[in-house]
Amino acid sequence: MKQQYFPYAFFEGKVVKTEDAKISIMTNALQYGTGVFAGIRGYYNPKGFINVFRIEDHFERFLQSLQILGVTTPYTKEKLVKTTIELLKKNKPKTDMYIRPFTYAGSINLSPNLQRDNSFDVAIYMLPLGEYLPVDKGISAMVSSWRRISDNAIPSRAKISGSYINSALARQQATKLGFDEAILLTEDGHVAEGSAENLFIVRNETLITADSSDDVLEGITRRTILKFAKDLGIPTEVRRIDRSELYIAEEAFFSGTGVQIAWISQIDSRVVGDGKRGKITQKISQLFFSTVRGNERKYKTWCTQITI
Ligand code: PMP
Repeated sequence: MKQQYFPYAFFEGKVVKTEDAKISIMTNALQYGTGVFAGIRGYYNPKGFINVFRIEDHFERFLQSLQILGVTTPYTKEKLVKTTIELLKKNKPKTDMYIRPFTYAGSINLSPNLQRDNSFDVAIYMLPLGEYLPVDKGISAMVSSWRRISDNAIPSRAKISGSYINSALARQQATKLGFDEAILLTEDGHVAEGSAENLFIVRNETLITADSSDDVLEGITRRTILKFAKDLGIPTEVRRIDRSELYIAEEAFFSGTGVQIAWISQIDSRVVGDGKRGKITQKISQLFFSTVRGNERKYKTWCTQITI
């Protein structure tokens, strides 16, 4: 299916038609994955606005990813937020959507290029986006034979374009074998996360997710869920997770901007809990979907409401 997208993009410092935002085949980022990106969701409200969820936090991680790579961009967080909002107003989306900011080595140097004097270019485009994975159906996941990139190979807490070869391989294997999604382990065999999602399990009514030092991307949705759990009085543990714990978990779900919250019904062909969406997953999902649409006063500061 052809990818749908909104008409305008930000490219080389200005707003252009999305189809005119083109780079050379010699571009360093295309050759080597020398780029950093973000994925932000906007939720459409028929009253005439879009609720953008945690935009500042996404750009903070974006800039931190560049800092980890040791490169710069001429854009501050404030400028990135402002540019995105202006572009959104120009695109006037009338549906739930996804914002993809992207910063990359735009030079045509032959060698993999992360030189400080070579500041990264910034581009932003936008797409309509409903579900990335089904949120209601119950997902089947498999533990991948691919290991999650480790922090000392490609920094895993940075959202680096080249890292996503790791995700693509795991996803390719999972879908070829008939599963919806992959779960990746760390090099030393502990549970890290999904191909583009963090992972939560429930054991003994405690919500558990991998520690951020276990090679996971420090997900903004993950952080959101940990805050919800605290506010709802659900006990949490952020710690190393063994593979075998996946098989005896009462509940499991993926979290991420794309996936939102998608409950898992099977892992490695073992039914999770009673095979239904669990109590804790349900509570967290309800609050999540209400919050991202701007309906929870308590979490309003996470939403940027943009009239379109
Ligand atoms: N892990 C990976 C590898 C991801 O690509 C994503 C999606 N950005 C996540 C976790 C979830 O992060 P977030 O909640 O910030 O979208």
